Amino acid sequence: MPELPEVETSRRGIEPHLVGNVIQYAVVRNSRLRWPVAEEIMKLSDQLVLSIQRRAKYLLVELAKGWIIVHLGMSGSLRILPEERPAEKHDHVDLVMADGKVLRYTDPRRFGAWLWSDDLERCSVLAHLGPEPLSDDFHGSYLYARSSKKKTLIKPWLMDNKLVVGVGNIYANEALFTAHIQPDRPAHTLTEREANLLAETIKKVLQRSIEQGGTTLRDFLQSDGKPGYFAQELFVYGRAGEPCRICGEKIESIKLGQRSTFFCRHCQY
Ligand SMILES: [Zn+2]
Repeated sequence: MPELPEVETSRRGIEPHLVGNVIQYAVVRNSRLRWPVAEEIMKLSDQLVLSIQRRAKYLLVELAKGWIIVHLGMSGSLRILPEERPAEKHDHVDLVMADGKVLRYTDPRRFGAWLWSDDLERCSVLAHLGPEPLSDDFHGSYLYARSSKKKTLIKPWLMDNKLVVGVGNIYANEALFTAHIQPDRPAHTLTEREANLLAETIKKVLQRSIEQGGTTLRDFLQSDGKPGYFAQELFVYGRAGEPCRICGEKIESIKLGQRSTFFCRHCQY
């Protein structure tokens, strides 16, 4: 599933091709995504792209008359291709640009979304989202204050978008390992020192993935390239039964909030 770093990598990948360019029209081959593709997108004509932004895992394409809001869902990806390249089975949406390129959206599972907003302030999917993890609004004191009296277990608590956006399952597992915190402790047991370390670690883990994603941008732009999801060295995620890279003990796996949770009993407490 595309996580925040992949979405940010996609944003950086498409930005230079779209901003300052004109969307001539959209081709929607299948509008049945998670929600139907917005009418306003189907009717687009000659719209200058002003900016490409990101909020949580939503890509925000700013046009003079409103915003296209794209979510990649479980399996969505975006590529820049020459207009003449034939569409394949799962290529559901194209934005045809004035310079002969298309932004092509591919999504085999169709859990993604193409929405429209005239005014982001009043956009329901963006309301109630917590701070961006890489922004100055997210820090140890914020986490510590929010953890007080919370009985929710730390890992599902971290993955709640109302607390902080974009800490997906892989990153929650990895950040808790690096901060030496057991994932199944109640949130209120976090000490101030642990909250500071955890906030810093979350930023580092996400930042490192975004930097690694940058190296895949070349592939991303090749017409036959796979979308830019990148292999990264994981300490615990997906490694049940394998030796911990730090201490050699076996990585354990449990379910928390129905999500696979991996940890080292020796390194996390
Ligand atoms: Zn260990």
